[in-house]
Amino acid sequence: MTLPRIAIASLGGTISMTPDAAAGGVVPRLSAEQLAASVPGLSEVANISAESLFQLPSASLSFPNLLAALAWAERQVDAGAAGVVLTQGTDSIEESAFFLDLYWQREAPLIVTGAMRAPQSAGAEGPANLLSAVLAARSKDSRGRGVMVVMNDTIHAARWVRKRHTLTVQAFESPETGPLGVIVEGIAHYFHPAGTRPPALPPVSGDVRVALLETYMGDDGQIAELVRAAGYQGLVIGGFGAGHLSFGFAERMEALCADMPVIIATRTGAGPTTSATYGYIGSEVDLARRGAIMAGWLCPRKARALLWGMLAGGIGRCDIARAWKDWHQNLR
Ligand code: GLU
Repeated sequence: MTLPRIAIASLGGTISMTPDAAAGGVVPRLSAEQLAASVPGLSEVANISAESLFQLPSASLSFPNLLAALAWAERQVDAGAAGVVLTQGTDSIEESAFFLDLYWQREAPLIVTGAMRAPQSAGAEGPANLLSAVLAARSKDSRGRGVMVVMNDTIHAARWVRKRHTLTVQAFESPETGPLGVIVEGIAHYFHPAGTRPPALPPVSGDVRVALLETYMGDDGQIAELVRAAGYQGLVIGGFGAGHLSFGFAERMEALCADMPVIIATRTGAGPTTSATYGYIGSEVDLARRGAIMAGWLCPRKARALLWGMLAGGIGRCDIARAWKDWHQNLR
């Protein structure tokens, strides 16, 4: 039987870390080949090719790094890979997978995985996660589903997945929807049919700076003025509750929105922003009237990735509100 070809690339993260006495802890060091070689039975389920793209902790992965990984993944599929697996640090997976999903147009699945425990620790789960990721990547049922995150035998959609714990191996959840599926006895089982894919963003034509702030009690929004003065081209705010700010912050909103798109998301960790429920100063109705855009279901960091993609793709400041609405309307 011919095994499907699955291409694995490593970007760094705990899954690839080994102890370094001088650094005082583990640091990314293992290559993609070493990761693949550590997984018992991997060569029995797929014809594996492995390449090391980066050796970074995921806090230092950038969107340009991810665009390079995306181009690599596209080349693998175009050369015949049935699916692609990227390994990276779990700290930024919820952001990176969503970002990749904004651009991934192939039918073949792109799976992102990592590990909460470094390879030398008791119960290190990197090899199990990599095996599950490859099993998801080789499954025909995974086609047309875009970018997914596989951790702890659970398959999550990039659009919904969040890291909800700093240390446990069950750190990832999709709080709004639940997982897309699970890996059982070597097979990817999906609970839901594939949904529509996010509409493609325009190709990136340059780098932009988009800030992310979280509001807090007593926040008068002065820090947002500093963001504007520093020349950022966009701002996302993790607002209170369903997308709210203080009186003082709200009163700065017209001036902020005159210079850059401002997206209001929620800092709560789950649930959408509202659009027509509250009418007080600093409410969603008031902030939208002053020019802010409500994030909807996107958490602050996914909202930031989308705004970055729109601005970096050349969508002008004045067209972001329309583009934001269209993007959401084109999702199921
Ligand atoms: N907990 C993180 C990980 O699982 C730390 C390192 C990183 O994100 O690169 O990989």
